[in-house]
Amino acid sequence: MNSRRNFLRLSAWGATMASGLYPIGKAFAGSPGKGKMNKPVVISTWNHGIPANAAAWEILSQGGQALDAVEAGVRVPEGDPNVRTVGYGGFPDREGHVTLDACIMDKDSNCGSVAFLEHIKHPISVARKVMEETPHVMLVGEGALQFALAQGFQKEDLLTPESYKDWQQWLKESKYKPVINIENHDTIGMLALDAQGNLAGACTTSGAAYKMHGRVGDSPIIGAGLFVDNEVGAATATGLGEAVIRMVGSHLVVELMRQGNSPEQACKLAVERIIAKQKDVKDLQVGFIALNKQGEYGGYCIQKGFDYAVRDKSGSTLTNAKSKL
Ligand code: ASP
Repeated sequence: MNSRRNFLRLSAWGATMASGLYPIGKAFAGSPGKGKMNKPVVISTWNHGIPANAAAWEILSQGGQALDAVEAGVRVPEGDPNVRTVGYGGFPDREGHVTLDACIMDKDSNCGSVAFLEHIKHPISVARKVMEETPHVMLVGEGALQFALAQGFQKEDLLTPESYKDWQQWLKESKYKPVINIENHDTIGMLALDAQGNLAGACTTSGAAYKMHGRVGDSPIIGAGLFVDNEVGAATATGLGEAVIRMVGSHLVVELMRQGNSPEQACKLAVERIIAKQKDVKDLQVGFIALNKQGEYGGYCIQKGFDYAVRDKSGSTLTNAKSKL
């Protein structure tokens, strides 16, 4: 399972998040150890997971449901214009449109998803409405927008001046072949186990920067970007969506846990499966995180540089995931 060495304790992250500096403190063992339960617990991708986890923890620590926690948690980066890869302020596609993908899944395998959605700041909440208010799992594009407006969501301009400026800069060369920068993948995927022992997950993103108009990644696709099985565990993905979709990555991770693998081992095996099918992984980044029914968690990625945030009774941590390369 997780090595003590891999954990950075972030007891006072709140004050330092604003400055962009993260405190490095003593190591701690975040996973419960064999036979022990660790609940409640929440884990999310990347360092924007730290404030997102804090919002989720407010709910989890008061005995609230994992489903409510993951929705509230990922709304934090969705609404933060400084997080350039999720929600409001996200990088646009090559036509200058901010198009958002999100999905959510609960303990009863109910799920909801939106893709290629424009003008709505909190796509995760629209995804939850799809789950709860429609007979469907997924709504996309104009139909998703119409549904959101009918549900009372506000239509907003999500392209901030910073993102507009960066897009104008990108247009000067307009490289239509996506250049995969291994640090340019910052979806938030969040998994939670509540005090009742139930799992839920959420995943939300503005997708790959300067993608083709209409492109949808793995993040809103149940089984690819997110999967929850309340009997076993949950997993979510970040990185190049096309590579994750090909392997139905998050479902694969959960099935590997079902076979008895720890969360970290399951993520590692899924990463190896992706690598085995790729000709060249030099510029490819994919990262998974996973959480099982006991509250054990882990992550693994192809390239160095992917980290994940955890909040449980012992505090808040940011961990560098182990990597294949
Ligand atoms: N997986 C996302 C996508 O391909 C990107 C990311 O994780 O940042 O849309």
